[in-house]
Amino acid sequence: KHQKIIAKKEAKQKWDDRHWVEKSLAEMTERDWRIFKEDYNISCKGGRIPNPMRNWKESGLLDKEILDVIEQVGYKEPTPIQRQAIPIGLQNRDIIGVAETGSGKTAAFLLPLLKWITSLPKIERFDDYDQGPYAIILAPTRELAQQIEEETIKFAKHLNLKTVAIIGGISREEQGFKLRQGCEIVIATPGRLIDVLENRYLVLAQCTYVVMDEADRMIDMGFEPDVQKILEYLPVSNQKPDTEDAEEVEKMLQNYTSKKKYRQTVMFTATMPPAVERLARSYLRRPAVVYIGSVGKPTERTEQIVYMVSSAEKRKKLVQILEQGIDPPIIIFVNQKKGADVLAKSLEKMGYNACTLHGGKGQEQREFALASLKGGTKDILVATDVAGRGIDIKDVSLVINYDMAKSIEDYTHRIGRTGRAGKTGVAITFVTPEQDSAVLYDLKQTILASPVSSCPPELANHPDAQNKPGTVVQKKRKDETIFLQ
Ligand code: ADP
Ligand code: MG
Repeated sequence: KHQKIIAKKEAKQKWDDRHWVEKSLAEMTERDWRIFKEDYNISCKGGRIPNPMRNWKESGLLDKEILDVIEQVGYKEPTPIQRQAIPIGLQNRDIIGVAETGSGKTAAFLLPLLKWITSLPKIERFDDYDQGPYAIILAPTRELAQQIEEETIKFAKHLNLKTVAIIGGISREEQGFKLRQGCEIVIATPGRLIDVLENRYLVLAQCTYVVMDEADRMIDMGFEPDVQKILEYLPVSNQKPDTEDAEEVEKMLQNYTSKKKYRQTVMFTATMPPAVERLARSYLRRPAVVYIGSVGKPTERTEQIVYMVSSAEKRKKLVQILEQGIDPPIIIFVNQKKGADVLAKSLEKMGYNACTLHGGKGQEQREFALASLKGGTKDILVATDVAGRGIDIKDVSLVINYDMAKSIEDYTHRIGRTGRAGKTGVAITFVTPEQDSAVLYDLKQTILASPVSSCPPELANHPDAQNKPGTVVQKKRKDETIFLQ
């Protein structure tokens, strides 16, 4: 009899120890949620953060209307950032999302926005177009803004919502015309949006949802004052209280189904430098902070290879690499617009199919270059850092830093173009010690931190890679004599 009890106990234990996959939502314990978050590399900071979603349907958070659209768009499972950020976003809570590019951030901020807009009564929803959009999404570059627009339209077209992109390179008249027809969502680069606001092509009188995408990049590009100026155009009547109330679901959702919903501010970034924290402190209220994976570090799947070369050797080395016949698409990064053009030309001469993407190109040319690489009519993209962030070209097999990036953050973003969506990738970097001494230390650390990469001894032992620049005062050699003239 005793044994029977033990057997029963064991069976019960086994039942309780099931992995969360085998459990229903109601059976999920605190521990299961912890394991769930570990399984998806999700970690959070901030009070009262809701549980992530195990799948689209189960959360009960998204309406059928939106679930149908998700199905039509073809997203079977939410990505990790979507799993955690969407339940938070649906509580009207402010968010700082730290996740690398390619992690599905767009839908993570878009779905809560769409849920809110579609929950407005129809009359309210289509009324007051002259009061401006419900949401603005800010992105650092035109390419990125367009990518967000594409992703937004995928969802918005099924819901009969309109979006307008306010970006450089498109005529003001055309943008003004589109804006006058009304839209719910504006996607913009900060400089151009300021221009449109100052010239009164656009008001933000009913804008209650603000997204800052790739915030670190916007700051790097000097957009901090522009972003601040834009936020000054928003109504203040619906600002959240700067107290713990901003963490309380009931309080935040009080006016959710009306236009009086509290302003929600959502920020996404790959790194958290001080300037980004400053921006967050000034404009977000009690944000939930969501980190995905090992953020700021290059993806673990990318093998990083470094060659120490002189400037004169780069060309030859590049040809050697390309001659190995690596599958396209390949992205080659250089630091100068001119260098990009020159390199692409000589690649073309050698019979490679190359195009360029950099800030000196017209809008049409840039779009054409991206489309050519995506569509496979070109194999090699020679780009400056404009293309380094957020551009989603699937299956880039190789990234070559023909010129090493000027900062480790840019390096990280560049090599993040490969090794996406569960695939392995390779990033090859040419380092010229005289020119790149300022980043050698960081580069060495980054490569040492990558389980699939090995640091060449020339880099590991290089004097400039031993200490972070500026942290060690160079001692004068004792026997050195200084002659004063
Ligand atoms: P990020 O903004 O983090 O760089 P995106 O939002 O641009 O990433 O998404 C990257 C790519 O992944 C896009 O092509 C997008 O359509 C796709 N994607 C996003 N979420 C999902 C999902 N849940 N399932 C499948 N594909 C997705
Ligand atoms: Mg993005």
